[in-house]
Amino acid sequence: MNATIDQLLHARQGDMTRELTQQPGDLGNLPSRLTPTSTTQSICGYCSTGCSLKIHLDASGQAINLTPNKDYPVNLGMACPKGWEALTPLAAADRVTTPLLRNPATGKLEPVDWPTALRAFVDNFKGIQSRHGPASLSFLSTGQIVTEEMAFLGALAKFGMGMIHVDSNTRQCMATAHVAYKQSFGFDAPPFTYADFEESDTLVFVGANPCIAHPIMWQRVKRNRHNPRIIVVDPRRSETAMQATIHLAPYPKSDIILLYGLARELIVRNKIDRSFVAEHTNRFEDFSKFVDAFTPERVTRETGISAEAQQQLADLIASGKRVSYWWTMGVNQSHQSTRTAQALINLALMTGQIGRPGTGANSITGQCNAMGSRLFGNATSLLGGYDFANAAHRSRVAEVLGIDPAVIPNEKSIAYDQILDAVDRGEIRGLWIIATNTAHSWINQRSFHEVRKKLDFLVVQDMYATTETAQMADLVLPAAAWGEKEGVFINSERRLGVARKVSRAPGTALSDFAIFQLIAQAWGCGEMFARWSSPAAAFGLMRELSRGQPCDFTGIRDYDHIEASGGLQWPFTKTDARVNTNPTTERRLFADGRFFTSDTRAIFLFDEPVPLPEPTDTTYPLLLLTGRASSAQWHTGTRTNKSAVLLKLASRAHGLEINPVDATRLGIVSGSKVTVSSRRGEATAVAFVTTIVAPGQIYMAMHSPEVNRLTFPSFDPHSRQPGYKACAVKIAPV
Ligand code: SF4
Repeated sequence: MNATIDQLLHARQGDMTRELTQQPGDLGNLPSRLTPTSTTQSICGYCSTGCSLKIHLDASGQAINLTPNKDYPVNLGMACPKGWEALTPLAAADRVTTPLLRNPATGKLEPVDWPTALRAFVDNFKGIQSRHGPASLSFLSTGQIVTEEMAFLGALAKFGMGMIHVDSNTRQCMATAHVAYKQSFGFDAPPFTYADFEESDTLVFVGANPCIAHPIMWQRVKRNRHNPRIIVVDPRRSETAMQATIHLAPYPKSDIILLYGLARELIVRNKIDRSFVAEHTNRFEDFSKFVDAFTPERVTRETGISAEAQQQLADLIASGKRVSYWWTMGVNQSHQSTRTAQALINLALMTGQIGRPGTGANSITGQCNAMGSRLFGNATSLLGGYDFANAAHRSRVAEVLGIDPAVIPNEKSIAYDQILDAVDRGEIRGLWIIATNTAHSWINQRSFHEVRKKLDFLVVQDMYATTETAQMADLVLPAAAWGEKEGVFINSERRLGVARKVSRAPGTALSDFAIFQLIAQAWGCGEMFARWSSPAAAFGLMRELSRGQPCDFTGIRDYDHIEASGGLQWPFTKTDARVNTNPTTERRLFADGRFFTSDTRAIFLFDEPVPLPEPTDTTYPLLLLTGRASSAQWHTGTRTNKSAVLLKLASRAHGLEINPVDATRLGIVSGSKVTVSSRRGEATAVAFVTTIVAPGQIYMAMHSPEVNRLTFPSFDPHSRQPGYKACAVKIAPV
């Protein structure tokens, strides 16, 4: 990386020369100005399903339309509304097209050129480090950028700029699954493949609403030809619960008690796979003694689930030949999330329901590249799933990257909440936020607004300058969006897929990768990152880092190899590539019962249930539950709000659900405006009176900009994931 910043800028801004896969487009009778001349494919940049989209291009290589890819093993020709509208946010009027720097005289963000922006970045951040030490800088990033960019950012910040503590918004969605698998299996290794949705005879969804949150995965369930029994555990009668064989609605966050009770019942019935437990697991006897206390009476008392319903649940599980357990944010975002996820893992292990078609303890991921972040974010784990505290691991990473091992920190990062606490204490003074909207999404939102005042310099790198977080920035760096750059996403089932460049970024916006290159150069550590010359080169480094790890994908040649194979699931070693020249499209882990722990055995992990951190009382008598409300909205709506179609489809996504019992008592009717208050703040919403929520509970969507004024900041002790799912509130008609 010997080029000057000017040369780099010139090269990046003129870069629309990548050859696209040329195939005849087929879009029927489009007007001639929209007639595509070629088609390429790309993985959708919203959720972790990882659908493939055919992107239709005009003669200049610019995307004009898209259709779902019917030849891709994930989505089989389907897409949800967000996927169909994936191109719309690129053309939004409020794209940021040039760097913006806050003018101290006017207090306003004003356009500047890139050299000025880079100078401001370096001068301010180096100034902070010289006054307060290297650890006084931090970044918060995302699960939405490609893996090459995540890895580059983590390497640049920690090895080049000297940061120690960094994190990403995957802490808010997937940290629990990461830690649960790592502790139980020895590596963060979701064992399943999407074919398992179609192969199970019994599917158990806990804290998951795939009808809304993962609609294409739900379509895979609908393709199941085994007449499956579907069990939904959710305090709310969600869209998925409405289609279930049985729906169990335990008191919020008492699911762990129900699952321990189920384990006890299966032991009592002797429905245990004794040989699997003996050969492939540790600590089952301890677990067995522990769950003995979870009698049906206790479970009823503490969850509200009747003894009959518990028996029915156990009957279904015990009689299933292929039982699969699926969880997502209802489990991950709770105060005791890791042990709850492990309660599901324990059930799969004790019954031997893992490693075979239609089985597994399966975490459904959230963001399109949360799995990439888990492997290469360089926050909790060192690049490629290595351990910061292990000197041999640091040497191995340093060797691959061609850097001095001494620049690699020997401790992992503290978590998102702890980084913000460190800002609050004045220890972290400079913060760089990349492609996430902390000011909207952080739990107990107002605490972030207070904390921001303690920062000396805030940089936000995003495709819009209009997000709540960008509006607070001292410097905004304009980033290219999905579709305007290239790289790899890893989906929920460990499948690598390629996101392609199909559109030009507006103005002087640059790919995050190019921005990191410029910053490396401006910071004075460009030489250290000479090997990171392009996303494809970075992919080569990541592939080498994976060698010998459980995620080994050294058998993947390049992006074209991934695309031609319909995506490739890790592991895909050189041996796999040699013996398996036409790899099967569906591959699962642990068929041999060997896990990634040192003795190859999985571990039963468990703890006493902990009560809700903020129970209801006479002042705040209702429990607020939060979650998704529409398949047409994504997180804080930064992109999906740009689409009139999606906004129309998600018209109820900012409403509040309340049970008729509570609504009548409070004089609330559907369509009326209400105020919701917690100890932390107040929000307004339009009420929807419905039995979907139980009496004593209300439900608001995560997409609402106000909802996190209310949420209570509790954190799982193992994963530090925030417990968004339940807090005490009161409500009144406006
Ligand atoms: S948002 Fe998710 S389900 Fe929808 S098209 Fe994209 S990847 Fe598929």
